[in-house]
Amino acid sequence: MSKKVIDLLNEARSRELSAITQYMAQHYELEDQDFGKLGKKLKEIGIQEMKHAEALAERILFLKGEPTTKPDAAAKKGQSIVDLLKTDMALETAAIKMYNEAAPVCAAEKDQISKQLFEKLLGEEEGHFTDFENIKDHLEKMGDAYLATLAG
Ligand code: FE
Ligand code: FE
Repeated sequence: MSKKVIDLLNEARSRELSAITQYMAQHYELEDQDFGKLGKKLKEIGIQEMKHAEALAERILFLKGEPTTKPDAAAKKGQSIVDLLKTDMALETAAIKMYNEAAPVCAAEKDQISKQLFEKLLGEEEGHFTDFENIKDHLEKMGDAYLATLAG
């Protein structure tokens, strides 16, 4: 089994662990600020990232590797809503880039299953990016009127 593939899966897992801690931190902050509807969205996406981290760990274990427990970055706190959405878009953009690059490497290493895992995650990360981008665009266009719809 390819060490190259295991390293890529672990790099992806580190990213997922960062995204989990970041989105959960934002979820708690937003709840606290009474932006519960946006908080709920962050919670939902955070749980999807947990499933990604788990899928990567299962594949790493199958390949006889050791799943990393280290997030690749610390969560940012206390950001404005627009800024936290920019943070999240940057996390998704970096994951999309890495997973796009990892899939063909897995194929070259003759590991179609790992390739398919990266492709599956890729589709979901693109969805997350679009969700964050839409919310940010609405906020920038409509301001407080849209902000009010995120409360509750
Ligand atoms: Fe993910
Ligand atoms: Fe994501």
